[in-house]
Amino acid sequence: MVVNLSKHYSILCDWINEIRDMELQSDRMRFRRNLERIGEVAAYEISKGLAFDQSETQTPLGTSSSKKLQQQPVLATILRAGLPLHQGLLNYFDRADNAFISAYRKHHPDGSFEISLEYVTCPDIENRVVILCDPMIATGASLVKTIQALREEGNPKEIHIVCVIACTVGIEYVHRNEPNVKIWCGAIDDELTAKGYIVPGLGDAGDLAFGLKQQS
Ligand code: URA
Repeated sequence: MVVNLSKHYSILCDWINEIRDMELQSDRMRFRRNLERIGEVAAYEISKGLAFDQSETQTPLGTSSSKKLQQQPVLATILRAGLPLHQGLLNYFDRADNAFISAYRKHHPDGSFEISLEYVTCPDIENRVVILCDPMIATGASLVKTIQALREEGNPKEIHIVCVIACTVGIEYVHRNEPNVKIWCGAIDDELTAKGYIVPGLGDAGDLAFGLKQQS
């Protein structure tokens, strides 16, 4: 299942326009903060589908009956581009346990690339809700590889993916390999270049958030 968070127009559309805008992209702090805000909206939307218990809160004047989140999800992110989105999720799920995975594109001389996954640090995810974030779903290969690595650590109850821009082929690839994950995205674009960039997309999210890297 895919939820496109900009399907119904809201202020989120402005944030997505800003991160795409090459005139504004030089403002790294605004770029990161917009990713973070999108993570916050995604956290709020995802929270509506989580399990809640009945709760009673004692106020100075009486008792309030309401609901309380049963358990905080595990937040997982793919380094490094996922970090601002992760912070947005963590702002709302502020007692969450966290997992970090390093996955990057290892380029070959012929222009092709493979996903190299080298580092996984993960809390207990057995029977937990896991929210995995990566700003761009391009080919979907790094997400699928990351989910496979997470499954070696335990068997989550649910997996949600949060991204900012997804392309159609990437969504299809993720769902072919992981049919039960729910994808929450800020926008969906149709095109993917031979080099694995989304069009119109926004460019390289990691570089825009944190600066150019030396490795190709
Ligand atoms: N990763 C990015 O940062 N941008 C893309 O367009 C695709 C993958």
